[in-house]
Amino acid sequence: MKRSDAVRKMTGLTIMLPGGIVPPEILAKVSELAGKYGFGVYVSTAQNLRLINIAEEHLDAIRNELAAAGAVFKGPGRFPLARVCIGAVNCNLGIADTIALAMRIHERFGSREKVKPKFKIAISGCPAACSGAMLTDIGIVATRAGFDLHVGGKGGPKPRVGRRVLKGVSEGEILDAIETLVEFHDRKTGKKQRFSKLLDEPDFPFSG
Ligand code: SF4
Repeated sequence: MKRSDAVRKMTGLTIMLPGGIVPPEILAKVSELAGKYGFGVYVSTAQNLRLINIAEEHLDAIRNELAAAGAVFKGPGRFPLARVCIGAVNCNLGIADTIALAMRIHERFGSREKVKPKFKIAISGCPAACSGAMLTDIGIVATRAGFDLHVGGKGGPKPRVGRRVLKGVSEGEILDAIETLVEFHDRKTGKKQRFSKLLDEPDFPFSG
């Protein structure tokens, strides 16, 4: 193979964005580095910022500069960030501040280590459920009566609506329920497991 025929290896790097919010200093650094190194920027369906088409030889320099600006990167064992709709502060139909709740979930669980894959969390600010909360492993939906909690939803080739296990509860009860669910998931999971496969376990912690 001629040198000119060789495929240039590219890689990627994902910056985690709690609450789907991009801090201005990270946005500015990404913009600067994208200009310098010529990579692309993709907003993932999980509301993270994925830097794509990075030349492998540039990866360490890019990672170091972003880390210095405060970026945290997606990696194995990290607690998943909640996917959120825009919520009550910026949506006329909203009942709850989804971004604030996502931040509180991140504050409480974000430092957990060796979290087993692969469950996702979503929060919707009203029953319209724009963030797909009912199609997510742990789905939180704000209603006029409080928060509903759905478990076991999923997309993919065989989508499933999550089972409602709590209705009209407080934010504190939602946080405690997430802890209960995550510990149950950890006990029951070897390598990885969606919650839909655990709903019918005899010791599933909620009767629904
Ligand atoms: S789920 Fe409700 S609050 Fe959230 S964006 Fe949709 S309509 Fe607005």
